[in-house]
Amino acid sequence: MASQQGRHFLQIPGPSPVPDRILRAMDMPVIDHRSAEFGRLGRDVLDGIKTVFGTTQPVVIYPSSGTGAWEAAIVNTLSPGDTVLMAETGHFATLWRQIAARFGIEVDFIPGDWRRGADPAQIEARLAEDRAHRIKAVMVVHNETSTGSTSRIAEIRQAIDRTGHPALFMVDTISSLASVDYRHDEWRVDVTVSGSQKGLMLPPGLSFNAISEKALAAAKANSMPRSYWDWQEMVKINANGFFPYTPATNLLYGLREAIRMLHEEGLENVFARHQRLAAATRAAVRAWGLEILCENPAEYSPVLTTVMMPPSHDADQYRKVALERFNISLGSGLGKVAGKVFRIGHLGECNDLTLIGALSGVEMGLAAAGVPHRSGGVQAAMAVLEGQEESNTRKAAVA
Ligand SMILES: *Cc1c(COP(=O)(O)O)cnc(C)c1O
Repeated sequence: MASQQGRHFLQIPGPSPVPDRILRAMDMPVIDHRSAEFGRLGRDVLDGIKTVFGTTQPVVIYPSSGTGAWEAAIVNTLSPGDTVLMAETGHFATLWRQIAARFGIEVDFIPGDWRRGADPAQIEARLAEDRAHRIKAVMVVHNETSTGSTSRIAEIRQAIDRTGHPALFMVDTISSLASVDYRHDEWRVDVTVSGSQKGLMLPPGLSFNAISEKALAAAKANSMPRSYWDWQEMVKINANGFFPYTPATNLLYGLREAIRMLHEEGLENVFARHQRLAAATRAAVRAWGLEILCENPAEYSPVLTTVMMPPSHDADQYRKVALERFNISLGSGLGKVAGKVFRIGHLGECNDLTLIGALSGVEMGLAAAGVPHRSGGVQAAMAVLEGQEESNTRKAAVA
């Protein structure tokens, strides 16, 4: 194996690379988490993070991975025997379902082929049938990180509204927050679950629940035993910038810097950048003659692109060759698509040249691993980034 000089390309869809600015912001002495100084940091991040969720309601921050925030959403609002409606968008929806099942929740799981987002029409039909209102919550993964499909949350909200069904609406934005347009209040989501190590560009270790008034009321009335994840104690103490137990202080310094960086660029620009990088990546995949797993263009993920391997080629063997030869980490296939797909992350700390470097690694890796493909993917991506594809489309529209 050649010596690995230069920067490692971490092109998995989370954890994503942490910008130097954030690393420097975290390089601080640990402070007393009951001090006035901490209270200022706490208020900065607890207020600041609301702007990223698009909410004025409470957002609680846990020292945990995203899985903890999944569990928190469940144990605060649901009890054993309750029924919830979920959609099988991929591996992460399947894992969230498993957690609910472990707490004795009945999950009506709308089956899916992992090639699209949750279907608003199917959710509407299931809720319309449920005249007795047995379904307590609709739970959807916004960006399905195992497949690269993004569900249409605003349309699902409208579908729920058309039925007049009172179910809570809970959304996993662990891999979409701060990369894809998201509006907790405007879309009247009751619980938004998220994590630090994807679009927020932080190391793993923080997770979030944004909580509506309706969800907080459901939590007050809910008899499910819970302690560490309980919202009520957290929300009460957070009001002054403090936490009921020791918070992950240095990650909070990083979070403060991440929020600043997102607003310096402008959230709209952050979302547009992700769309652009994703479009360039898809152009590369098509030029290689490979297939994108997501079948619905309206649900292409701005965060990652999942590429299907040609039959009888092992995606993990290919990823191994790319890592050894070019020092690039690509995402593996998860669950039932293991070995059949690989995932290219283009989120967070990523710009035109980072992406072109990464796509060069993917293309050279395909050649090195003997995977049948056409060359020219990087060229096609460059054309999109240079705006040629857009101007061609405009010309076609004019003609
Ligand atoms: C990464 C991810 C998770 C799991 O988060 P952890 O931090 O690994 O616990 C859950 N849902 C989605 C959509 C994810 O991308």
